[in-house]
This record gives sequence, structure tokens and C-alpha cells, in this order.
Amino acid sequence: MLSEFDLIARYFTRPLRPGSAATLGVGDDCALLAPAAGMQLAISTDMLVEGRHFFAGADPALLGHKCLAVNLSDLAAMGARPLAFTLALALPAADEAWLAPFAQGMFALADLHGCELVGGDTTRGPLTVSITVFGEVPKEQALRRSNARVGDDIWVSGTLGEARLALAALAGELALDAASLAAAAPCLHAPAPRVALGLALRGVASAAIDISDGLAGDLGHILKQSGVGAVVDIDGLPAGPTLALQPPALQRAYCIAGGDDYELCFTAAPERRADVLAAARASATPVSRIGVIEAAPGLRLVDAAGRPCQLPMTSFDHFASP
Ligand code: ADP
Ligand code: MG
Repeated sequence: MLSEFDLIARYFTRPLRPGSAATLGVGDDCALLAPAAGMQLAISTDMLVEGRHFFAGADPALLGHKCLAVNLSDLAAMGARPLAFTLALALPAADEAWLAPFAQGMFALADLHGCELVGGDTTRGPLTVSITVFGEVPKEQALRRSNARVGDDIWVSGTLGEARLALAALAGELALDAASLAAAAPCLHAPAPRVALGLALRGVASAAIDISDGLAGDLGHILKQSGVGAVVDIDGLPAGPTLALQPPALQRAYCIAGGDDYELCFTAAPERRADVLAAARASATPVSRIGVIEAAPGLRLVDAAGRPCQLPMTSFDHFASP
């Protein structure tokens, strides 16, 4: 059996890349980061617990990817460039057949974003992965939740609901043919964080959030923190290609409140539409305009005919009463 320190040395210690913002990585009491002049550090933590955020026995390579992806998604939502991350890992056993693919999946995504693993903690316990990411964003340019203005357009990146559709099929909540499940599952297991879009939206978007808990709930955070309300066309939401083949009621529910989408919801003044579309092109990320910010608080949903409609399902909350 590997010792704790052999495990860290073998799977989680790599030389720092030249030009890294980290000046000291794994191996000392702390890592050292040197953010560039004029930059603020953006810091976020997301923890994934077996049986809660992922199924027991989940593919370790996909899990390594996803644990970092959900954290990078928070940097994206802030308009921050990834610099480094730490990894706190509770493992039931030092199983190399699990550790090798987990590290490989995680580092493949880290390398794609130039994000350096600089430290962490390793302990025995129920499988839990907690990552803290560090990014940088120029002072005054972070995409806060609190800055949406009355009259702003509301936008969302990519498509919605595929992850929730795959989860429902895997949990036996609905029947999905094998080809459809294979098409939807990558959205659940291997989301691509919208880092490039977040960077391109600096100075363009007024507010942004990632919609990991579902569009209605997460847009609700923007509305509350900005002291505004919104109207959203529920039939105009960009359903993912597999979800688009499902009954309309399911499309609505999973688009507005599915969760696990890792897309960005953001607001921008209508005068900035051309700039939003340029940011989308520059980052090769599709975006859709889904609604408008209004003064009256709360989220109002309308259907294709403009009739008010109810929220079909609520967003995710770990401590909500059943
Ligand atoms: P300390 O006792 O000072 O907290 P540890 O013995 O926990 O240090 O860790 C030794 C070194 O290994 C530290 O630099 C720590 O950041 C790093 N480390 C521990 N676990 C991990 C991990 N899972 N991934 C990356 N680095 C780790
Ligand atoms: Mg420690």
C-alpha cells in the first residue's frame, strides 16, 4: 500500500510550468502565488461527495475532470483567468487503479487551462474531492452578481438540460434509449467550463453567474443581489439536442431548473448586443438571449405566446425540505 507521501509524490506532484503564477508548488507548508500587478485574486471552492454529487463507483478519469471543471466554471462566471488550484482528497484507500486515472482526468483539464496544482491535503475517509481554484481578474472587472440593471438583456451560453436528462435516465426516473443517453451523458460527466467566454465578457457583461444549480435559482441570485426582477421566455430557452426530442413539459422543466449545466447566465445592456456576440464568436461559445431585466422584483416566466407560466420544478438545494 502506498504511504500518504508516496501517493502525493507519485500522483499529485509535477514541476511548475515556466511562466506559472505559482512560485512554489506542492511540497512545502504553503504554496506561493504571485498575481500580476493590477490583478485581483478570484478564489472559489467546490466540494464533491460520493453518493451526493456523483454515483458510487463513478469513472475516476471523468470524476477528476468534473471536480476541476465545476471549480473552473466559478472562475469563468467571474471573468477570471485560472492560475492554480489546491486539492483536498479523502480516500477510502490508496488505490492506484483509481488514483492514476483520476489524476490523468484532472491534469488533462488543468493543462488545457494552464491551471497549476500547487497543494492540497490527503486523508483517509469517505470519497470526497474538494478543490479550491485561484484565478486573476483586473481590478474593477470581475463579473459580479450584483450589477444587473433594469433594461439589460439576459443571456445564457450553450444549451441547457442535457445533464439533468442524463441524470434522470441513470437514476431510473425516466426511460431513455442507449444512443440518447450516450449523447447526453458527456454533459453530466465531462462539462466544459466556459472560461474563454467569461474572459471575453469582461467589460461587456454587467453581471454573471454559472448555472450549476439550475437557471431559475441561479438567475434568482443575480436578481436578488442586483435588486431587480426579470421576465424569461421559457419556450425560448436553448434545450440541448437530446432534450429537444423529449416532450415539451420535460424540456421546460430541465431547461429552467435542471442543474449541473455549467453554462453562464449573464446580463448586458442592449447597446452591447454586438459586443456580446463578438465575445461569443471570439470564444467559440454559442449564446442565446432569453429575457430582460425589469424593475419589479422576482422572476416571471412566459410561454411562447407571452402568457405567464409557473416554474415547473425548483432549483437544487442540499438542505431543502423534501
Ligand atoms: P501539512 O502537514 O503541512 O499540512 P501535508 O503533509 O498535508 O502538509 O502535505 C504535504 C505537502 O503535500 C503540502 O505541500 C501539501 O500542499 C501537499 N499535498 C497534500 N495532499 C495533496 C494533494 N492531494 N494534492 C496536491 N498536493 C497535496
Ligand atoms: Mg495537510
